Amino acid sequence: MSNQDRVALVTGAARGIGAACAAKLAGLGHPVVLADVIGEVEATVAALRAAGHQARAIHLDVADEAAVAALPEALADWWPRLGILVNNAGISPKGPDGRARPVAVLPAEEWRRVLAVNLTGAFLVSQACIPPLAARRWGRIIMMTSQAARAKSQIAGAHYAAAKTGLMGFARSLATQLGPDGITVNSIAPGRIDTPMARGTTAEANQAFAANIPLGRLGTPEDVAEAVAFLASDAAGYLTGATLDVGGGSYMP
Ligand code: NAD
Repeated sequence: MSNQDRVALVTGAARGIGAACAAKLAGLGHPVVLADVIGEVEATVAALRAAGHQARAIHLDVADEAAVAALPEALADWWPRLGILVNNAGISPKGPDGRARPVAVLPAEEWRRVLAVNLTGAFLVSQACIPPLAARRWGRIIMMTSQAARAKSQIAGAHYAAAKTGLMGFARSLATQLGPDGITVNSIAPGRIDTPMARGTTAEANQAFAANIPLGRLGTPEDVAEAVAFLASDAAGYLTGATLDVGGGSYMP
């Protein structure tokens, strides 16, 4: 099977890490579907098409069960060729001072939304994608978790750390269940990556974080996209249930 025959679906792909993953996979010859809740996804897809890639935009809230269930129909002609899913959509809400709200004052509604997008969304989209991947006995599911799920989190909120830690547990269960179908499931735990999400935090917090990165800089979306491309490739065929820390050494187990 060539990459042409392996459609890649990337959620949260309008900008940031998701957009870089979609661009990298498109550059490797995969037809790519960029799913997002923001209109910017159209411009991101237009740029990929202008560069000669096969790319489609789809407006999708990953936490919307009915919208996810409609994916196979919405992408009908590409759906049987689905090969790669990158569960990248995520949110990390902060208070007006740019810091995560402490648990003592965290609204339950914000807690629920963070779990709905970062964890339940990945469950819903993964579930929808299993049939076409299993039918061809080849598939790659990649979860975008976080260093906040690996170690004490100084910037992200408790809801975010809980959701991303749950996502890693979900990835391990799914890897166990889908291995016999030829589908691998792995996680990437980025450190601090320079994206609109990271810029939503105070500059001081990002500087303090960068000061403790052995490689001496924040990551770029492309740094993460390279790891995604590897996990999506045949070269990573014997890797499943693993977590790659892409953080310049900011977290070392
Ligand atoms: P970002 O905010 O720049 O991009 C996230 C994208 O997800 C946006 O385009 C947004 O519209 C989309 N999105 C949000 N809610 C959605 C929903 N319900 N359905 C579909 N799309 C939705 O953030 P980013 O930094 O590029 O983050 C990408 C992923 O990487 C996230 O899961 C994030 O938690 C994770 N991550 C980021 C960092 C970092 O430092 N930037 C670190 C660790 C993990």
